[in-house]
Parts: sequence; structure tokens; C-alpha cells
Amino acid sequence: MALSLPAEAPALDGQTSLERRLASALAERQAQHRYRRRSLLESPQGARVRVGGRDVVAFCSNDYLGLANHPKVIEAFQVAAESYGVGSGASHLICGHSEEHHLLEDDLAAFTGRERALLISTGYMANVGTLNALTDAGSTIFADRLNHASLMDGAFVSRARLQKFAHNDLADLETQLQSCQTDSRLIAVDGVYSMDGDLAPLPEMARLASAYDAALMVDDAHGFGWLGESGAGVAEHFGLGQKEVPVLMATLGKSLGSFGAFIAGSEDLIEYLVQFCRPYVYSTALPPAVAAATRASLGVIHSEPHRRRHLLDLIERFRAGARERGIATMHSATPIQPVLAKDERQVLTLADLLASRGFWVGAIRPPTVPAGSCRLRISLSADHSAEQVDALLDALQWALEQCR
Ligand SMILES: *Cc1c(COP(=O)(O)O)cnc(C)c1O
Repeated sequence: MALSLPAEAPALDGQTSLERRLASALAERQAQHRYRRRSLLESPQGARVRVGGRDVVAFCSNDYLGLANHPKVIEAFQVAAESYGVGSGASHLICGHSEEHHLLEDDLAAFTGRERALLISTGYMANVGTLNALTDAGSTIFADRLNHASLMDGAFVSRARLQKFAHNDLADLETQLQSCQTDSRLIAVDGVYSMDGDLAPLPEMARLASAYDAALMVDDAHGFGWLGESGAGVAEHFGLGQKEVPVLMATLGKSLGSFGAFIAGSEDLIEYLVQFCRPYVYSTALPPAVAAATRASLGVIHSEPHRRRHLLDLIERFRAGARERGIATMHSATPIQPVLAKDERQVLTLADLLASRGFWVGAIRPPTVPAGSCRLRISLSADHSAEQVDALLDALQWALEQCR
């Protein structure tokens, strides 16, 4: 029997419609100067890295405390790999829930001052899964315009009504809450904005949440580990407990120098997510050795408080040095220090000029940031020295002059 042919024959150029779509999207990215390339890293993370055959000083990772290559963290990882092997073998609910995962959850709950914590393989999955589990088509999610992509995607997956409010604009949020008709409301925000470095006004948001019976979910990917009295993050910084921030999410791949994420909150919240958070239920548990390494990171955060102090000193030094050199910074008191550029072309030129002086800084363009707000995203780490920060500032001043 002959196979029937599709009604539409392939185009004369021999390309399928998929091939045409891919080629046209790639060409458009190029034309917009938004094409992304991966640089090949040939060393561990740290202040000095080897990339594409060159030794450079890196100011672009989220390893804010310099723990990704810490000897104690590496050792814990190795010891646990000896004891537990590499793969976890299954999801948590089948047979992959290792005692290492469980111990880490207990430590994370204690550190954040919450009843319980639930380990989830990535922050992206934690946000999508939690929003999807907590809301449905009859809910409204209020989201800051600058929220991380994973919170936005979680809102889409959940099919809830998504209402964006202007960045950190409490009046806009309150107006939207006032006119909201649905009973199920959730406010979802970043604690520290990943590309701007500023904090969400969480105490005021918690008050609005309480006044309008909305749940408050905070993504603390960039505050957890270094911010607050003990490093427990943005909720600790503002003195907000489980009552004020009932859904706290943070990641382990940034300040903790490891990998993974967690949700912390009440006993019922965690049990509910164990039942209904699909990326938790239907995904393989992360390797137990990663959990063991993360516990070692928590230990280092407690035992080496000078890392956090040094990071705070560097933030202050960077901002004062930028002011002295006439370099415009943004309103950020965190390790994320953006320097705005005119457009895509200019930000790429600035990054290239810095690279020519031996500095690796990320050139951030849309769609990661809104159109017209391209920037260098300088990120500081406890691994940097004061001299490295000063040298970066000198190079930055020079690069900006070249672009004038
Ligand atoms: C990095 C990041 C995530 C995603 O976490 P992963 O563990 O890398 O998937 C989520 N939210 C924010 C704000 C982030 O910066």
C-alpha cells in the first residue's frame, strides 16, 4: 500500500516549515544584536576563571559567597558520593528520597525559621510547580513587572489571571487588589531583583497581602545565604516570619554555591506541595551528594561569617568607587550592581572592552530585561579582593569613556 502524501508539498527551497521558522528567528535575533553565545569555562567558579583559553577576573556569577569551589563543600560532595553513589534513582515519592535530602530540608527549615522546607530540583521548577499548585483558572496572581521568568511562566501554566503591577509600586498593587473580584489571590515577587539588585518592599507588601486576604510568595534566589542578620535572606532582613511571608522560595545554586531550590512554610503548605506540586512529584530527586554539599555550604555560612562581611564591604567599596569616578549605578545595596547602557550594541561593546582588559562581565539584553534597559550586570563575590574591585572600576571608567 502506498503512503499518502501530505496535502502541501515542501517549499521549493527544500526547507520544511520548521527549518524556515528556526532560520528566520535566528536571523532576527542577530539583527537585533540580541544573539546569545555561550563562553566555554575551563575552570571552577571563582574570582579568577579560565574561559576560552584566557585567564580573566569574573564579575558575572551568582556565587556571591565563593562557595561553589570551597574545599569543605567539595569534600562533603565527595564523601556523600562514596556513601550514596551519584544518581538518586527515582522521584522523592517513589524511592528517591534520601536521608541526605531529608537532613537538608530540616536544616533549611531551621535556617529560615519555617516549620518545614521542601527540596525541589531547580528554582525554575519550584516556582512553576508552586504557582501551578496554589492557583487555578479561578485565581488572580499579582506579579511585579520585573519578576523572574520562572514566576511568570508559573502564572501561565496555572492559567490564573495574571496581573502585573509596576516595579515595586505599592499604590499600583493596592489599586489592583481593590478591584480584584476573585477570592483566591496570590502576590508573587522576587525578594532581590535579579537584574536590578534592589529589594521588594516586603513589609508593606505583607500588610497589603493581609488587608486584601492575598497570599504572599517571595522568591529569594538572590538574597538567601548572604542577606539578613544570619544570612537567612530577605525575610530575615525585614524580620518577616512565616505568617507574613507564608510561601518562601529560595535557590541553592547561587549564594550556596551548590544546586537546587526549596520552598519553606507551614506544615500544611509543604504536605500540600508533596501531593500537588507536579515538578516535585514527576521529577527525579537531585543527587544526594548535592544535598550533602549544600548542608556543608550552610555550615560554612555559619562558621565563616567573614565571607558575608567581606561581601558587604565590597558592595560599599564598589558603590563609593563608582561615585568617585562618575559612573552611574542603580539603586542597589546588593552584590548585583547594574550599569545601564544606551542599547544592545553599546552594551556588547562595553563588555568587549572590559574583556580586553581581562574582566568578564555579563551584557544583559532583552528579553531578559525590558527593551531600552540593556546593562552590564556586575556581580560581586566574597572571593573578590578590594584590589580586583578597584581595577574593575578603573577599566569600567575607561570603557565608558571609549563609548562616549
Ligand atoms: C536563578 C533564579 C531562579 C531559578 O533558579 P534555578 O535553580 O537556577 O532554576 C528563580 N528565580 C530567580 C529570581 C532566579 O534568579
